[in-house]
Amino acid sequence: MTMHYDLLAHRILERAATQFPNKRIITRVGEGTHRYTYADMFARTARLGNALRELGVEPGDRVGTFAWNNYRHLEAYFAPPTIGAVVHTINIRLAPDDMAYIINHAGDKVLLIDPDLTPVIETIADRLTTVRHFVILGEPEEVSTTLPDAIAYETVLAAASAEYSPADVDEYATMGLCYTSATTGLPKGVAYSHRAVYLHSMASSAVDVLALSERDRVMAIVPMFHANCWGLPYSSTMVGADQIFPGLRPDPRIICELVEREGVTFSAGVPTIWIGVLDYIQRSGVEYDLSSLKQIISGGSAVPLAILQAYRDQLGVEIVHAYGMTEAAPLISVNRRRSRLDGLTESEQLALSAKQGVTAAGVEMKLVDENGDTAEWDGEQRGELWFRGPWIADEYVNDERSSETFVDGWYHSGDIASIDRDGYIQIVDRVKDMVKSGGEWISSVDLESAIMAHPDVLEAAVIAIPHPQWQERPLACVVPRAGTSGQLTKDAVLDFIRPDFARWWLPDDVVFIDEIPKTSVGKFDKKVLRERFEDHR
Ligand code: ADP
Repeated sequence: MTMHYDLLAHRILERAATQFPNKRIITRVGEGTHRYTYADMFARTARLGNALRELGVEPGDRVGTFAWNNYRHLEAYFAPPTIGAVVHTINIRLAPDDMAYIINHAGDKVLLIDPDLTPVIETIADRLTTVRHFVILGEPEEVSTTLPDAIAYETVLAAASAEYSPADVDEYATMGLCYTSATTGLPKGVAYSHRAVYLHSMASSAVDVLALSERDRVMAIVPMFHANCWGLPYSSTMVGADQIFPGLRPDPRIICELVEREGVTFSAGVPTIWIGVLDYIQRSGVEYDLSSLKQIISGGSAVPLAILQAYRDQLGVEIVHAYGMTEAAPLISVNRRRSRLDGLTESEQLALSAKQGVTAAGVEMKLVDENGDTAEWDGEQRGELWFRGPWIADEYVNDERSSETFVDGWYHSGDIASIDRDGYIQIVDRVKDMVKSGGEWISSVDLESAIMAHPDVLEAAVIAIPHPQWQERPLACVVPRAGTSGQLTKDAVLDFIRPDFARWWLPDDVVFIDEIPKTSVGKFDKKVLRERFEDHR
């Protein structure tokens, strides 16, 4: 037999502190930059653990974070787990009702809040039933709030013992908590065990997955409150990569400047971010040196083919498509080209890179058709993707809706896909976003991707609108690129995609709008669009 060795989240940080003590953690703070090392971070995390104990946090208790991507948030990713407690990363962009709901539902005992976000918590403070302490992530002079007895993070840290004394925990104990962003109904909580996060970090950093290395300088644009920040704070720490945090409200200019100044090699975020960055570079005319950037991971929704192509051809940067969800901590699959496919032509390679990739080791998947039968992996047959594995949830926390989604040991994703013979997933649509026309399904994702390839289109979302005869028909909502509005017509859009689709797939109408509404994590918010265009004929 081998040793009994619990896979614990804080062992990830222990390794960084001993193996990579001088590797750096860099945060944009106002006009300046905060820099320190894993050794410094480890020491402060030990103090934070003790400070939380002083505040009455016990094993199993929840500590909520309400913060941008920064070094204090990284400390909070590790300190609660170290003392056997749970870090709950709260989405700072949820509606106030949803925020109050998840904080109460999680039972957060302490909230760690960025100074500029205190006004948001102030508006819901009187509804919070479990919070005992509000800790403001800053110096004492940054505490300016009506939150009762708010204390400065740096004050509690300075007062706490420096001794590193991790709790004795089981690897199956909960160490993290994330809620889905509630595009329909109340947010659902997903709990992560130490073991899940440890294994996720190992599997996701592998060469054929995210290919994360000690040599990397990782900048997550994906918010630290979205799906565990795709695990990057943990996996980057495990491999000893430098980490760069963009701080408050990162915009395309800030992203480009940070890449250039800090020599970022690896970044990650939803497609909306990369569409915005490309548009900014093209419009500003500023020539950034992005040559350090080896790969950008884009996930959270399908990345349009035109964006993959533009990054490759115009910026010389490879976008790597990844797929996952909060329920899977979050990584399911990443698109790396298998050796067998090296001989593909350039356009075949591009088409391949728009797929969602192959599963990481540890993730098992099934494709199940409408009749409940297993569908073939032939790149044609469609079905719902089901998953299981060591970092995939088996329930929502304290939630009656669990039984609809977690059935007989499988997580039913609600994503419709095909899988080809090499195991590459291609997402057709979310079940609730498909357009059902005359009993046949139309993929909104395919239409959007095709429309966004038009040079005058910045963004496009396709939604179903009710139709008396066909039940539903597709409507394209299109945002023209700045400087072209007024010139782009419905016919120009439809003519552009006509060669690629059957006639009945083509949208019945094209509406031009100023902006596609986005969800709290930056995805196209089709629910809002469906409501807006409900009566469109
Ligand atoms: P939320 O549910 O709060 O939007 P998640 O990130 O957990 O946040 O959403 C996961 C869902 O996002 C997946 O089930 C899938 O529908 C979609 N998704 C994630 N990555 C991709 C991708 N690369 N391509 C297409 N859809 C994706």
